[in-house]
This record gives sequence, structure tokens and C-alpha cells, in this order.
Amino acid sequence: MDVIRENSTRPTLVLPEWLLNQLEYRARTEPWPDGVHVRYLTVAGATVDVRGTEDAASYKCWGCGDSTALYGGRRTKELAQGHAEKCRALPRPQATT
Ligand SMILES: [Zn+2]
Repeated sequence: MDVIRENSTRPTLVLPEWLLNQLEYRARTEPWPDGVHVRYLTVAGATVDVRGTEDAASYKCWGCGDSTALYGGRRTKELAQGHAEKCRALPRPQATT
């Protein structure tokens, strides 16, 4: 199966179904860090966490490290979801020591 498929405008990331299922299961079952109230799964399996309140919130992507300054909660969630739909940075593997 192709991991990256070319189309007329730009490459599209296509992950195998088994990997998507595994990433989705992990995202649904892992406990969220303290203070995270919304979490989005990126197309590459990283998460984008939204913290804060409806008056002042921010997000951080655990794939590429992108983040926002404080916006209102609704705007932050829109930005976080938009980022998750496009970000292709792989999540950093967890250290095992
Ligand atoms: Zn990202």
C-alpha cells in the first residue's frame, strides 16, 4: 500500500487501515494530560491538545510542536482542528529507559 500518493495539487498521506485503527484506538484510550479539555488526532497520528478556558485557550501539536498564543476557546478549537487535519509530522516516540 502506498504511504504517500501524489495527486494533481499536492501529495496526500495515505496510511494503511490497520495503522489508522491502531492510532485511533490509542488516541481514544490513553489518559489525557492534566488541563487538556479537547484533543484532536492528526492525519499522521500525533495529537493536538487544547488547554485553557472559553475565554483564553491555546493549543500544542505533539507532532510538529506548533502552538498558538491565547485566543478564545472556540477560535482555538477551530485552529487546532484545522492544524490536525493538515499536520503530517509523526509523533515523537516515547523514551524507554
Ligand atoms: Zn503539527
